[in-house]
Amino acid sequence: MSDKKPELSAAMKSKVEPKVFKKNPIIGTKFTIAISSAKGGVGKSTFATNLALALKKIGCKVGLLDADIYGPSIPKMFGIDEKPKSDGQKLEPVNKYGIQCMSIGFLTDQQTPMIWRGPMVTSAIKTFTQKVNWKDLDFIIVDMPPGTGDTQLTFSQEIKMDGAVIVSTPQEVALLDVKRGIKMFDKLGVKILGLINNMSHFIAEDGKKYNIFGGDGVLKTAKEFKKDFLGEIPINPEVGKSGDEGMPIVEKYPNHEISKKYLEFAENIKKIYL
Ligand code: ADP
Repeated sequence: MSDKKPELSAAMKSKVEPKVFKKNPIIGTKFTIAISSAKGGVGKSTFATNLALALKKIGCKVGLLDADIYGPSIPKMFGIDEKPKSDGQKLEPVNKYGIQCMSIGFLTDQQTPMIWRGPMVTSAIKTFTQKVNWKDLDFIIVDMPPGTGDTQLTFSQEIKMDGAVIVSTPQEVALLDVKRGIKMFDKLGVKILGLINNMSHFIAEDGKKYNIFGGDGVLKTAKEFKKDFLGEIPINPEVGKSGDEGMPIVEKYPNHEISKKYLEFAENIKKIYL
């Protein structure tokens, strides 16, 4: 009796073999790093903008891609109200603070709600990764939308992602979603660089420390899932104010204690890749 395995039909093969996606790099950059959060409002865009600026300050060439199609923040946080130029084939990124930026918010009225359906989101992501003239970059920092939806899937399956940072606040509700986010990246084979505890605590004028959103839940979650804990960023009104003004804290006050934290994160990322 022959011990040759019977050939599987093509239809059967597609059922039993895991689908292998062809992952394209974003042309014009060496490394693509996603800044992700499971919940909205935890400070993901604030982290992405300040990290991009910190990487720039330590000598890297940086792009910032706002992939939050439903709620783009980069135009406001970087104070950009200019439309990107196009040669009919490709879009030119908008340069601000020495960083090449692209956002759906540059192309639409900021106050128009985005009622994009899944396939349209996917096509917008493809445009931003394949039809933008990113030039000679070390890193593209991608500000992901919150959650585990179409954008995350498209990026993780079709684009060469070199790492993801997950930003969270310490509340239990945020952490539940973080766990889902970790599982998603693990499943899709995207390396998680680690977790950031944003708005970890507040230091009042009397020097007392207040754990406004809870304790060390982000650290515990990192340990539980065997991921690195990258550090914490306290609540500081200057962080919010500078972002609202269109000049993030690393650009506005590079010597501020919070800016130094972003610079440290940037040094660590540079060390890993360059
Ligand atoms: P996300 O991208 O997760 O939705 P944002 O970056 O837009 O969150 O941040 C939500 C709000 O919290 C913004 O007003 C931002 O300025 C503020 N914020 C973020 N991090 C801090 C911080 N460490 N201290 C004070 N305010 C912060």
